[in-house]
Amino acid sequence: MAALTDAAARGCVKLPDGRAIDYEIRFSTRARSARLRVGAREGLVVVVPAGLRREKVQQLVSGKADWIAARLAEFDTVRHLIHPPVGARPQAFDLPALAESWRVEYRETRRSTVGATTDQPGRIVVYGAVSDVEACHAALRRWLARHATKALPPWLERVAAQCGHTPTDISIKNQRTRWGSCAPSGRISLNCKLLFLPRELVRYVMVHEICHLLEANHSGHFWAHVRGLDSSADAHHGRMRDAWKLVPGWAQRGSGLAL
Ligand SMILES: [Zn+2]
Repeated sequence: MAALTDAAARGCVKLPDGRAIDYEIRFSTRARSARLRVGAREGLVVVVPAGLRREKVQQLVSGKADWIAARLAEFDTVRHLIHPPVGARPQAFDLPALAESWRVEYRETRRSTVGATTDQPGRIVVYGAVSDVEACHAALRRWLARHATKALPPWLERVAAQCGHTPTDISIKNQRTRWGSCAPSGRISLNCKLLFLPRELVRYVMVHEICHLLEANHSGHFWAHVRGLDSSADAHHGRMRDAWKLVPGWAQRGSGLAL
């Protein structure tokens, strides 16, 4: 049974290997002593008696760093399948569009800002003032935009060549409300969050925008072009309605993305 929760707060603990792990503190009127648990879905949760001072909680959790590291190692194999709780820094995520899995490490350094860099295949290091969760999310969003800027334009060019229509220019953005757009000038813009979607949906979005080069509307002519280039266009279009749910909270800027 879950303990009656009076209030929740967040803390951060450094593990022996240098990783910084966020945890949730639940103050409970029923708890007589502190309890730690690590769940695949909720991450590290510390339940403590209501009224216990935050410094005391931090001390308790720091004393359990080895235990936490061992529990987290057990979850390493499954954690990337599950979205972290809202407000936490992601420890891992998948990019189905590219068939890639990424682990994220956080390193506190003296910088006042936060940056993110790829230091080895499959690993991103977020460094700087990493106790600022929102700054970590922003750094990861900038990383995502850079990654998409490398991956999506060549892909769009290949699809455009298959379709026989070429955009005049390609740009990758982190739009709040659109998966993609096509300007009257012939420039196609794609959302970097497409990387969280399965490949067939990314291709559908590309085909959709390429068809806007021919028809700047959603008329019957437009859909005829789309269906001619993607035989599952209607099914894909239907799946796009909920596709924003595939985007983890840290990457999300606004909800509900259109075409
Ligand atoms: Zn459209």
